[in-house]
Order: sequence, then C-alpha cells, then structure tokens
Amino acid sequence: MAKPTDTPLRSEEEISARVKALESLLIEKGVMTTEAVDRMAEVYENEVGPHLGAKAVAKAWVNPEFKKRLLENATEAFQELGFRTGLQGEDMRVVEDTDKVHNTVVCTLCSCYPWAALGLPPNWYKQPAYRARMVREPRKVLAEDFKFTVPNDVEIRLWDSSSELRYWVLPQRPADTDGLTEEQLAALVTRDSMIGVGPTRTVAS
Ligand code: FE
Repeated sequence: MAKPTDTPLRSEEEISARVKALESLLIEKGVMTTEAVDRMAEVYENEVGPHLGAKAVAKAWVNPEFKKRLLENATEAFQELGFRTGLQGEDMRVVEDTDKVHNTVVCTLCSCYPWAALGLPPNWYKQPAYRARMVREPRKVLAEDFKFTVPNDVEIRLWDSSSELRYWVLPQRPADTDGLTEEQLAALVTRDSMIGVGPTRTVAS
C-alpha cells in the first residue's frame, strides 16, 4: 500500500540504533531502569493496541446499549471493558459510520491519536503529506494512497484530533456476519477501519 511520504522515512536499522542509544543513555544517567524500559515495551506490544479498539467495536455491533454509551462517552465505555485510558486516551470520541457518512481521522497539528484504543500511530499518520492532503482532498487521498474507495454519494467527515480530544471510528458491521460471535467479529475490525482509511475485513478474507 503506497502511503504518503513527503518526508524521508528512516530505515528500521537507523531507528533501532537511535532507540538503543537513547535507552543506554537514559539508563546510564539513572533516568530509567532496564526494567522500566522493558515494561513500557511490554505495555505497547501486548496491552495497548488496535485489538482493544476492535473489541469495543465488536461489542458495539452486537450490543445497542453499549454502542450508545460508546458514542456518548467513549472513554467511559472503554473503561467499562476493563481497558486503561490513561495512555493518550483520556478524552476519546467515537464517531459512527453509516450508509450516508464515512468518518476519517487526522491530526492536522501533529499526530494526536487514541493510543489507548488503537496503539501507537502508524508512521504515515504523523507525516505532513497525510495531514495536509487529507484536509484538502480526502476522497482522493483515500482512493490513491490507501486504495480505499468511498462512494460518491457517501459524505466524508474528517475529524481533527487534538491533545484534548482524540477521535476514532466505529465502522459499519460487515455484511453476512449474523452468526458470528463477538470475538469473531472483533477479528474483522482493522486498525485502518478505526482511523477511517480502510475497510473492515470480510468474512471470506
Ligand atoms: Fe497532534
């Protein structure tokens, strides 16, 4: 998938060398311990991530009362599931896709993102190309960069996340999923569908 790149991406080796150097320095200066670094990595690898947002979406698909609470107060509804919201998820708002409206999220200022629900933001989310072009021509960016076509009769609503309010999307429940369990439904929810730049999975795929 071609993602917007108007700033050069650093290679993975370059990034990991920088991270290692920073980590050594922080430990050497006594700012952090190895255990603390490992714990943070564990949190972001195993405990926080789009699988949590996906669980909330699946629950909303099967439980109208929960869906109502999720749309009214995403942070509280999220906590109700036992998920933490302290990691850039203190004030989240979930917006609902319908037959007539497709929601997409951007942070025009920097890269505000609901870490608690979606994990760490993808690289392209932080890049000026995505942030600027999405505002001007969202339909075109979705089609060209994300190969994701939103029909012309569906309105695209763009939500600008900030450090005060972080948006994510409740995508529409895929067709032909009547018999699926909540867990099976959650597996159909993609990170991109919760940012509004891609589809959910279909049962066959
Ligand atoms: Fe931001």
